[in-house]
Amino acid sequence: MKETIYDVAVIGAGPAGTQAAVSASHQMRHVLVLHSGKVSFSRGRAYWSKSVEIEDAPVFPGIIGPNFAKELMKWMESRPVVDFMLGSEKRKTGIDIRDGLAQKLTRNGDLFELEASTKTLKQNTPLETALFKSRTVVVAAGFDDKWPDIEFEADAARLYKQYATVFRYAGNRKGWHVCIRCDGHLHVNEHLAILGVGDYIYEAAIGAQDFTDKITILTNGRPHGMSPSVLEQVKARKINIIETKIKRHIGEKTNLLGFEMIDGSELFFHGFLVDEGLIPNTKFLEGWDYQKDEEGLIVANEDMQMLDSNGDPIPGLFAAGDIISGERNLIATAFALGQEAGLSASDSLRQWHFPD
Ligand SMILES: Cc1cc2nc3c(=O)[nH]c(=O)nc-3n(C[C@H](O)[C@H](O)[C@H](O)COP(=O)(O)OP(=O)(O)OC[C@H]3O[C@@H](n4cnc5c(N)ncnc54)[C@H](O)[C@@H]3O)c2cc1C
Repeated sequence: MKETIYDVAVIGAGPAGTQAAVSASHQMRHVLVLHSGKVSFSRGRAYWSKSVEIEDAPVFPGIIGPNFAKELMKWMESRPVVDFMLGSEKRKTGIDIRDGLAQKLTRNGDLFELEASTKTLKQNTPLETALFKSRTVVVAAGFDDKWPDIEFEADAARLYKQYATVFRYAGNRKGWHVCIRCDGHLHVNEHLAILGVGDYIYEAAIGAQDFTDKITILTNGRPHGMSPSVLEQVKARKINIIETKIKRHIGEKTNLLGFEMIDGSELFFHGFLVDEGLIPNTKFLEGWDYQKDEEGLIVANEDMQMLDSNGDPIPGLFAAGDIISGERNLIATAFALGQEAGLSASDSLRQWHFPD
């Protein structure tokens, strides 16, 4: 059987990857989408809104994350792979959606080779991998939020329990939020706890001011780490800072109510925001010389093409969505960047070019 060489391989099936795939297939390209949903815990940031409705994504009013993910999948499935003739050349167009978590991206001559694990990652189970080949790649793998370090002991079973607890409260109307702009409207005039340290955490408070002025910063046992000028503002805004370590969550079903502190006291809030940073999903790019910012987010040019350390575009390699440095981490932005990346990847495969 003839080996499949895709025109565009898209890594990640969130809004950025979906839009990149649809836009590229609309330009008659043969597109692979690597969808990690069934293979890993990583389901994308939009998926997290378990009971909170996403309210500012185009065309999808009031939709929860898992349903939004299903709609994205349906949109891609509406463009199956078909053959067509362009002049005398037989080509394919459409979207081939495969379950897989990208492990390693390499270049072999003119082609990219993408190694992906295609079975659920489990301890003691050998990795099952597949190799996909393509002419261009769009990295749309987003990032994962760092969850609060509460109820943590460095033992694997405890670690699992910590995550099970955090996941129970994450993405619910009365649970952990990670995006104040997304979920702040749920807590207008309510008392909001913001967890994090450094000047960075004051930025979260600045975002929260549109919704409430009742804010407490929890540092979870660390010094607040704010500079004198920021601290002065925090005090002027009457934002309380509590540096006591949190012992455990206090909750009811999926509702987070407050915390038991290490000194035995209990604190209760109406809303909870964590801002401890992010983990970019770019492990498969190890070995590539590409520009990234201090958080590990990808620096791209206006065509969403990734750049090497000299600032030169890396041929065939594009990126879109939350993984891009300096952009708003929101769904409409992810769609827009995804379209740019999908179209730029398609354009890069054209054979006719304007004379220099
Ligand atoms: C709780 C929460 C609520 C939010 N609410 C809103 C809102 O109301 N409005 C709004 O506009 N935005 C909201 N956002 C932000 C929004 O979800 C993101 O901006 C958006 O999902 C980014 O899209 P993306 O496609 O870049 O990344 P993602 O949606 O994160 O998708 C990335 C995809 O890549 C996959 N992936 C990761 N690594 C690999 C790999 N190695 N191989 C293959 N696939 C991989 C992931 O599993 C995921 O499916 C919210 C975010 C969160 C966390």
